[in-house]
Amino acid sequence: MSYDFFQLATPAVQALQPYQPGKPIEELKREYGIKNIVKLASNENPLGLSERAKVFIQAHLQDLTRYPDGNGFALKKSLAQKYQVETEMITLGNGSNELLELIARTFVTTENSIIYSQYSFPVYALITQALGAKHLQVPAKNWGHDLIAMQQAINSDTRLIFIANPNNPTGTWIDKLELQTFLKQVPESVIVVVDEAYFEYASVENPAYPDSLQWLKDFPNLVVMRTFSKAYGLAGLRVGYAISQPNIAHLLNRVRQPFNVNSLALVAANCMLADNDYLKRSIAINQVGMQQLTTAFKRLNLAFIPSLGNFVAVNVGNAMEVYEKLLRCGVITRPIANMPNYLRVSIGLEAENDMFLEALQNYIL
Ligand SMILES: *Cc1c(COP(=O)(O)O)cnc(C)c1O
Repeated sequence: MSYDFFQLATPAVQALQPYQPGKPIEELKREYGIKNIVKLASNENPLGLSERAKVFIQAHLQDLTRYPDGNGFALKKSLAQKYQVETEMITLGNGSNELLELIARTFVTTENSIIYSQYSFPVYALITQALGAKHLQVPAKNWGHDLIAMQQAINSDTRLIFIANPNNPTGTWIDKLELQTFLKQVPESVIVVVDEAYFEYASVENPAYPDSLQWLKDFPNLVVMRTFSKAYGLAGLRVGYAISQPNIAHLLNRVRQPFNVNSLALVAANCMLADNDYLKRSIAINQVGMQQLTTAFKRLNLAFIPSLGNFVAVNVGNAMEVYEKLLRCGVITRPIANMPNYLRVSIGLEAENDMFLEALQNYIL
C-alpha cells in the first residue's frame, strides 16, 4: 500500500468533484469503434480554425523556443483599441477559466463566501470548493439567475459574485435594466464578475442584451470576462481576458503566473480580433443552426430553453439514457448535472445538426 495522500489533501479538495468535460471524439472512437462522429458537446466553434490564424500560427512556430511576452503587450493593445479601454484594465488568462480562478484566489479565503446561481457554469462551484470558501448557491428562476435573490444573499463575508450572461448550460440571459439595477445595489466591497463568454453571439441584433463594459466607470467593483474560445474559434489555444479598473487588474497581475498565456495563443488571438469575416460567419452559422435545431424541437414537441449562446438545452426526458444512445450513433452531446431531463447541444454545421436530429428522431423518440 502506498501512502494515503488523500488524507493529506486539504478538506476542501477531498470534497471536490472533478470537472466533467465533454467526451473527446478520440475517446468515443476508442470505446465504440465508431468512425463517423459529430461532437456537439463543448460549445466549440464548428467552423474550424480561421485560415488567417493558421497562417499567423505557422509563421510564429519558431517563437516556441522562447518564453512568451509575459505582459501580452500586442494583444492588450489591440483589445484596448477595440473596446476603448486602457491597457492597464486588461488581464489576460489561459482561457477565461484561469481568470475566474485567479480572481477568486486574489480576493477569497476560507473565511469568505462566493455567490453564484443554481444551474450556472459549474466552474464557479468548483473554484469555490477548491479554495474551501463558502458556497452561496442561489436557487435559479426560470433556469436563469435570480438577481434579486442573489443580491439578498450578500453578507459581510461575501467577496465575489459570479454571473454568466448568457448563462451556460441553460442559455438564459439577463437584460440591461435588470443587470444595471443589480449592480447599483451591490456594495462596492463585493466584486461582481460578469462572464460574457458568449458575448459575440448574444449581442447581435439584441439591443436589450447588455455590453457590461459600458458600466466599468460606474461600478469600480465590476469585472467583465470574455474569451477567444467560442465565437473566435480558439478553444484549444486557451486565451481569455478580464477587463476591470486598473487597481483590480494590478492585484490579479500579482497572483498571475508570469507566462500564463502561450505565444501562439497571443498571436492567434490578436489576429482573430481583426478577422471580422470569421466572426461574421461564426455568428451566421450559429443563427442558422439555432433555428434548425429549435424548429425541429418544436416539431418533435420537445421543450427547450431559449438560448442566446451557441448551444441549447432541450428536454428529452431521461437525458442520461438519450445521451448514451446518441453516443452509439456517433453523436456526442452533454448531459447536465442536476438537470436530469436536459441535454445541452452545441450548435454545429448544418450537416452535423442533421446527424444529431436524425439520431434523435430515428433511434430515440
Ligand atoms: C466556455 C465558457 C467560458 C470560457 O472558458 P475558456 O476558459 O475561456 O475556454 C467561460 N465561461 C463560461 C460560462 C463558458 O461557458
